[in-house]
Amino acid sequence: MSTPLERGVETLKSQVDARVESYFSSCTGCGVCAEACLFYLETGDPRYTPIYKTEPLRKVWKNEHTLWGKLSTGLGLSKPIQESDLSDWEELVYDGCSMCSRCSMVCPVGIDIAYLIRKVKEGLSAAGFVPEGLQRAGERALEFGSPMGLTTQSLRNAIAALEKEEGVSIPVDVGGAEYLCMLSSNEVVLYSEYITSLSKIFSAAGISWTLSSKYFEATNAGVQKGDSGLAAQLLERVVEVATELGVKTIVSPECGHAYITIRWDAPNLLGRELPFRVVHILELLDQLRAEGRLILSGSFDERLTYHDPCNISRRGGVLAQPRHLLNQLTPNFVEMHESGEMNWCCGGGGGVSSNERAEPLRLKVFNIKKRQLEALNVSTLVTACSNCRIMLEEGLEHNDMEDVEVVGLTELVAEHLE
Ligand code: SF4
Ligand code: SF4
Repeated sequence: MSTPLERGVETLKSQVDARVESYFSSCTGCGVCAEACLFYLETGDPRYTPIYKTEPLRKVWKNEHTLWGKLSTGLGLSKPIQESDLSDWEELVYDGCSMCSRCSMVCPVGIDIAYLIRKVKEGLSAAGFVPEGLQRAGERALEFGSPMGLTTQSLRNAIAALEKEEGVSIPVDVGGAEYLCMLSSNEVVLYSEYITSLSKIFSAAGISWTLSSKYFEATNAGVQKGDSGLAAQLLERVVEVATELGVKTIVSPECGHAYITIRWDAPNLLGRELPFRVVHILELLDQLRAEGRLILSGSFDERLTYHDPCNISRRGGVLAQPRHLLNQLTPNFVEMHESGEMNWCCGGGGGVSSNERAEPLRLKVFNIKKRQLEALNVSTLVTACSNCRIMLEEGLEHNDMEDVEVVGLTELVAEHLE
């Protein structure tokens, strides 16, 4: 029976692949990545330097894969990883990194630092060093299919209430539908206007679509936690319902990590190609706009800006589509300084928002977003990720900036259909 420390170290060893080796052997220690990280910039604490967050993995790589490391270990000169290291890095990695990948954009030798941090999480998670909120979210996702513990009946109740209150029709479990729309639990509980908006938009565009009551969750607690086994298990459920319904395209909801997980990471996590196409809801909306199937009124008068969710814009590549839609809706769309692929994270990504312990830190790093917004004097802040939306609302409230309204782009599109 291995100890948590042994499990953590063994898992870290198993994470060293060719990319990891090439990254660590290329790092010059220049520190450029530090200036791209909101956690380092807002705290000034060198422990939040991106590359420092990868230290447990670097240590394992060095000791196992370099001559000097092997010699040092053999001569007893290299201190092995201790449980206290894992405990320290749990805080650095889960509280002090939103997996925004901004650091990866600036590294002069092309190191994807977020890729390395994700692998550190695998080791910490295997050793049980995971914040309580994320641990519970993972357990609920496994048991109920939702990190918030929502059940099939919860979804059915929410849909019945929406159909009654909003007078819309929301198809569920329709075999052979063109699109299967996945949801995040946030969209069932907090932002159900997203579901209503889908109904209005798809009805206007003449699209056949469905939700699945058996498994509706697009978010993936395994990815947030750093548990590839759990991530794959949750993804298998998506594949199962899409296959059962005979759907050819899955629509990822307004959630950043859900999108990159299903669209980009799934084949690697599952070890095979997906039997369907994946699009983000903004890609589909922009496609419908371009095809003339979605006519927008362009009557939004207020000055607004767009917060790029890191996983949708920077990592996911959905950059032009929201801008096409916003420019169609209003002449008053203004960009934040440093937007698009170099946007600043809201501070709540990568599971940070599910981690109560991290609250003071994430509100501190929100200062970057606050300054960006103050420079624009906008009344509306649009985004396309429910997790960002929660963090943005929390940050604005904390800074007495509630006069800035946060809305989802899908909802804005639905409100301005011709
Ligand atoms: S910017 Fe790249 S090379 Fe420089 S310290 Fe960071 S990871 Fe290493
Ligand atoms: S991924 Fe983002 S939050 Fe994490 S270390 Fe890099 S810049 Fe900082």
